Amino acid sequence: MDAYYTSGLSLKELKTLYEPIKRLSDSDIIKLFPMLELDDACPLCGGALSAPRISRGVKGSTANSYYDQQVICTNCGKTKTEIEKEYQESIRITKIRAAYSGDAVEFVWGHYDANRLDDVVFETLVSSYGILNNTYLKPLLVKPLMIDFFDECKRLLRLGYIRPSAVFNNWLNGFEVEDDGVSFYWLDVPFSVNLVDYVPLKANKVFVRDNTEFINIGEGEYELWQQTAKGLLMDYIDDQMWEGDYECEGLKREELQTLLRPLLSKYSPAQIASMVWSAMAVAEKQANEGPSYKKTGNWAAGVIINRAKRALAEGWDIRPNLISCNVEPTPFEDHLFRVHIPLGETWMYRRIPPLVNGRVEIAPALAPQGKVPATAEMIELAMTIAEEHDLDEPNYLSFDETRDFISVYR
Ligand SMILES: [Zn+2]
Repeated sequence: MDAYYTSGLSLKELKTLYEPIKRLSDSDIIKLFPMLELDDACPLCGGALSAPRISRGVKGSTANSYYDQQVICTNCGKTKTEIEKEYQESIRITKIRAAYSGDAVEFVWGHYDANRLDDVVFETLVSSYGILNNTYLKPLLVKPLMIDFFDECKRLLRLGYIRPSAVFNNWLNGFEVEDDGVSFYWLDVPFSVNLVDYVPLKANKVFVRDNTEFINIGEGEYELWQQTAKGLLMDYIDDQMWEGDYECEGLKREELQTLLRPLLSKYSPAQIASMVWSAMAVAEKQANEGPSYKKTGNWAAGVIINRAKRALAEGWDIRPNLISCNVEPTPFEDHLFRVHIPLGETWMYRRIPPLVNGRVEIAPALAPQGKVPATAEMIELAMTIAEEHDLDEPNYLSFDETRDFISVYR
């Protein structure tokens, strides 16, 4: 190497002087030279960086010239590109962890109040998505049926009860480092929670008085029930609109949403879905026959609204439909209708009577034709049995199956 770089001999001269390199190509001879040790350390491990030398044939190159793109760490063996990438990633992670490593505000479980929607939503989050002894919530990933669910989550965040957490390597992708700070995506990040003396809630009791079934529930639980049923129906309406290639935004949509509350006190979600379905069929017929303004989502929404108002005013008898669309309940609803409102999936077939003195009368379930659903009392009992024995629950829309399940395991 000295002969080449310092004394200035050519590669051709080197080949005649040194027998072992006689048959090597020029570039292979250069590769034999020891790497150039750089006056720089690897930002990852602190090892020395070095790089291959450059042939004198390249214009302007000296004994100290090297291939910048081929710099490698002599300690960890990583290339310059790898080092740069990992270094940037470690800076990114440090920024994320600095921004999201704090603890959540303590939630003293003894103060849990079923009358507060915040508390009920929080409890639902913890029970459905809690991990590591409920010190964290895993990423929410799914969209719950409940309308305004994320507004509720944002309230819990403002109150400090849930806090995005960057402690898990698996879920760092949910955070985004920007010029002016770090942001996160609601659905993709875990949250830390800080529960004091947490005890999982037991299911609310169903009781019977004068042949009528009741449950004791709080205002927050009642609100979550209503909002969930509304969410289910808005999803259903959106799905129907989407199928008709319509959009339903603005005032008509708000009017629809407002109507859902009185509707739900008279009809089950399944009956309302059935009414929406037939209204959409009417709207489609009118759209095919009528002028172009009838071919809009607003027109279709108007048809639904008119039917809903008439149904309420005239007390229509509506048959329930199986809600057949891309609306799937999530673990949040499973939990809500197992613990807070223990009705299982039959909730979709029951209207929502008023909350009076902390109790709700359970309306009979009107299941689609050919199905006789279990009573609330049977459902509650079957849920307890299934939990005690770690069994799959029976289909509560089948009275017989639920009855047999209870008698077998009792
Ligand atoms: Zn290194």
